[in-house]
Parts: sequence; structure tokens; C-alpha cells
Amino acid sequence: VVSAKGLGKTFGDTEVLKDIDFSVAASEVVCVIGPSGSGKSTLLRCLAFLEAYDAGSVHIGGQLLGYKDQGGMRVRASERAIDRVRAPIGMVFQHFHLWPHRTALENVTEALRLVAGLSRREAEKQGMDMLERVGLVDRADHYPEQLSGGQKQRVAIARALAMKPQVMYFDEPTSALDPELVGEVLEVMKQLAREGMTMVIVTHEMGFAAHVADRVVFMDAGKIVESGKPEEVFRNPSSPRLQQFLNTWR
Ligand code: ATP
Ligand code: MG
Repeated sequence: VVSAKGLGKTFGDTEVLKDIDFSVAASEVVCVIGPSGSGKSTLLRCLAFLEAYDAGSVHIGGQLLGYKDQGGMRVRASERAIDRVRAPIGMVFQHFHLWPHRTALENVTEALRLVAGLSRREAEKQGMDMLERVGLVDRADHYPEQLSGGQKQRVAIARALAMKPQVMYFDEPTSALDPELVGEVLEVMKQLAREGMTMVIVTHEMGFAAHVADRVVFMDAGKIVESGKPEEVFRNPSSPRLQQFLNTWR
């Protein structure tokens, strides 16, 4: 579904991503872990072209994301072409980015109406289905400020699901939550994994990663240092850097 080759990204003088090869197969759940500043968010952003990468390539569903070939040269594609290739990606961030003056349901239906062009009725029907998947049917008419952090994040997940993504990207979806609200969000994500959703999850929740990931990718200083099944990566880390990182989480 997602494939990146030789991905590189530089901010000023700092090389934030170095020669990253990364791919996600259908129904695979990949958790990305690593210390602060190692480039996890930048990787996710480049994989969605929210950030323009400057080396390598990203393909989504076999289509080149962000650039196109023009007479043997690689040039930036139009915003429209980028949007089209990016459309199968659903995204959830640490901060929920809900519209404050729209209800939970309206937050979910907004894109269904404006982007997918559904009628109000159809959008509301699908929106309620999505709220049901995240257990929030009874909060449909609530505004974000009337919702807990965990509920807001579940609305954000429902909003992303509404567009029927082929892959979901999560960037530390529980890091901004009070500890007692983390579980309800992770539970929704586990359910998605069980349903076969393809997911890339940047997380500091090691227990969750061990439980739900098909593959864990450890990043350090802009590189993928280790990648493998959770039992290998967590029980038998081969690099000293990962051993050290895991020790700080035990
Ligand atoms: P965290 O766990 O704290 O979220 P991260 O692994 O997600 O960290 P990134 O946010 O990807 O790390 O940042 C990687 C590096 O790139 C950091 O050194 C950061 O300062 C730098 N960086 C990120 N975004 C920018 C930007 N827009 N301009 C300049 N430098 C940036
Ligand atoms: Mg980050």
C-alpha cells in the first residue's frame, strides 16, 4: 500500500531522514518507535507529502506521491495530483484538530459533504456509522469542548475513517491524553487492526506496539536502525541504541 525508497529530508543543514526504505503491505500494522527528534513525525509527514521529501520516492497504491516524471526529470506534481494520490491516507495526530464550532457528527461529515460530495442525509448516515465504530453515537451532538480528550481523539479517528482510507497514519495519538483516557483510544485502534486496517503508528506505547504490531521499526537520528517482529525487536534488540532506548521505557 505504501512504499518509500531511499527517502531523504533535510531541514537547513540537518539531515532529518537518511536513506529510508519503508513499506507497508495491505492489512499490516507497523509501529514506529524511537527517541524524540529521531525523525518519526517527519517520516510520517513525508509519507503523506505534508512535507516535501528531497531524496528518494514515496508510492501510495503504486502511484508516485508528490512528484512526476517530466522528460526524465522529476518535478513537483500539481496540488491536485498530490491530493489524488494522497486520498487513500487517513491521518490522526497528537492534537485532534477538530473544528471547535462543529459537533462531533459535523466534524465527521464535513469532508464527506465537501470532498466526497454526499448529500446531508447520506453524510449523516455514514457519519453515525463511523461514530458507532468508535463508540460515540451518544456524543454526536456534542461540541469538542464538551468532550474528553479521549473522546475527541476518537472523533478524529471516525473523521479519518469516514473517507474510507486504505491506510491510516497515527502520530502519537495518545501522547496528549491523560493516562486514564489512553486505553479507550488504543482499544479503538486495536479493533481497527483486528478488522484488517493497514496502519502506520508512531507511538511511545510499547505495550500496545508489542501487542498490535506486525512489525516494529526503530528510528534513531533519521535512520531506521532496526525493524522486525515485535517479539524480536522488544525481546532481542540487536543494536545497543535500541537496548538503551528500551531500558528507559522499562
Ligand atoms: P518526537 O518524538 O519529539 O515527536 P520525532 O521523532 O517525531 O520526535 P521529528 O519531529 O520528525 O522527530 O523531528 C526530527 C528532527 O527534525 C528534529 O531535530 C527536529 O528539530 C527537526 N525538524 C522537524 N521539523 C522541522 C522543521 N519544520 N524545520 C526545521 N527542523 C525541523
Ligand atoms: Mg513526533
